Amino acid sequence: MHYVSTRGTAPVLKFADALLAGLARDGGLYTPQGVPRLTPAEIRALPGLRYAEVAARLAVPFVGDDFSSAELLATAEDAYAQFDHAAKAPLRQLDDNLFLLELFHGPTFAFKDFAMQWLARLIDRTLSQRGRRATILGATSGDTGAAALEAFGGSDRADVFILFPLGRVSEVQRKQMTTVDRPGAHAIAIEGAFDDCQAIVKTLFADLSFREELALSGVNSINWARILAQIVYYFTSAVALGAPGRKVSFAVPTGNFGDVLAGYFAGAMGLTVSRLVVATNENDILVRAFEGGHYELREVKQTQSPSMDIQVSSNFERLLFDVYARDAVAVRRLMAALGAERAFSLSRDALQQIRARFDAIRVDEEDCAREIARTYSETGTILDPHSAIGVRAARATLAQDPATPVIALATAHPAKFPDAVAAACGARPETPERIRRVLGSPERFETLPNDAAGVAAFIRARARRVK
Ligand SMILES: *Cc1c(COP(=O)(O)O)cnc(C)c1O
Repeated sequence: MHYVSTRGTAPVLKFADALLAGLARDGGLYTPQGVPRLTPAEIRALPGLRYAEVAARLAVPFVGDDFSSAELLATAEDAYAQFDHAAKAPLRQLDDNLFLLELFHGPTFAFKDFAMQWLARLIDRTLSQRGRRATILGATSGDTGAAALEAFGGSDRADVFILFPLGRVSEVQRKQMTTVDRPGAHAIAIEGAFDDCQAIVKTLFADLSFREELALSGVNSINWARILAQIVYYFTSAVALGAPGRKVSFAVPTGNFGDVLAGYFAGAMGLTVSRLVVATNENDILVRAFEGGHYELREVKQTQSPSMDIQVSSNFERLLFDVYARDAVAVRRLMAALGAERAFSLSRDALQQIRARFDAIRVDEEDCAREIARTYSETGTILDPHSAIGVRAARATLAQDPATPVIALATAHPAKFPDAVAAACGARPETPERIRRVLGSPERFETLPNDAAGVAAFIRARARRVK
């Protein structure tokens, strides 16, 4: 399998090179040249397999000869051994045809661990095969950074620099990043919003000589391997509810559009997906775009679900590439308009294709809190604010089509956001031992102004790659 950039002018790469590259040199996102399709019989063979076996099996055709299937299985087994639930992604029923997919049993208690734990092992293996080192650079709205610093903890081939928006992540999220005590781990607070952090990362990746010198590698959700790893739990959960004999819908708390895009690829691979529901908080650029066809940036609002406080949904570009018939020129035109005018309009045909698969629902702060309270009083389950947005959107979807089961993705453990949860339902989630340890450890981080050149100098001075 080869990977092409959504903007069409970066070199075509094999899996391992796309894995190390992260963002493409032309500013685009690497995306597979084709999508392998599973037959219904192959999908029917999945139930009963261990989670890591499903992961390896689904990844094989995307990976080509860069990793053997034995290597894929070994790295997946090792990655998911870090999770504290045997099923890795257990399903819990909340109501008639309403299911919660718990994706928070990894080391940093958010779904990001699913991709990051595996990706770190694949990157580490690639670097040691090539006798190379790399500098991982990423921006985080909270959970990606924690997952990355934790996942690369065992690698002495990669230094990790993570930018997070100062004062805009929860205390647990911040401490998960700032208490990682090892030489190659760097948490950097930026005086700005998440989109500022992401813009700095994009600027540094676009500086090709800096990129070369530092051997920069990206693990944000723009990295294709992240999407690939996230396809797995769409399959395991849907087959548990009867796919391919039965269609299921998914309601996905969405920020950067990475998680729900994995669902879109699962459908393209042959999984019987009915609706994909993009559930946003008050940062609703996608809802507005899907309703009116106009993708328009506005100011970021701070909400109880900070990991979704995002305006530029980076991964949306991969969907655009697909619905514009993989026309990189068209994508470049849209992205140029976004840069210049902070907005673009979707063609009628593109919008129609998007609406054929996706719904988009905005959940405001009040409804999010109401959903936490309702689910707690009806079932005893404590949802975190991100997951509550998914459940709320799932209920709206069920109201339209009560016969099709809806799986709401629970993307974070409530103990990551205890204050918001307690304010909504009066109950305080129990603090897992791992989080208690993090809360009691000393913090270590740098605060830098919102300025790419300053961040570049900081990285250059510390990356072991350049010594
Ligand atoms: C990252 C994150 C999201 C949003 O996922 P995207 O892939 O960016 O759409 C939702 N919930 C939580 C808890 C997250 O950490």
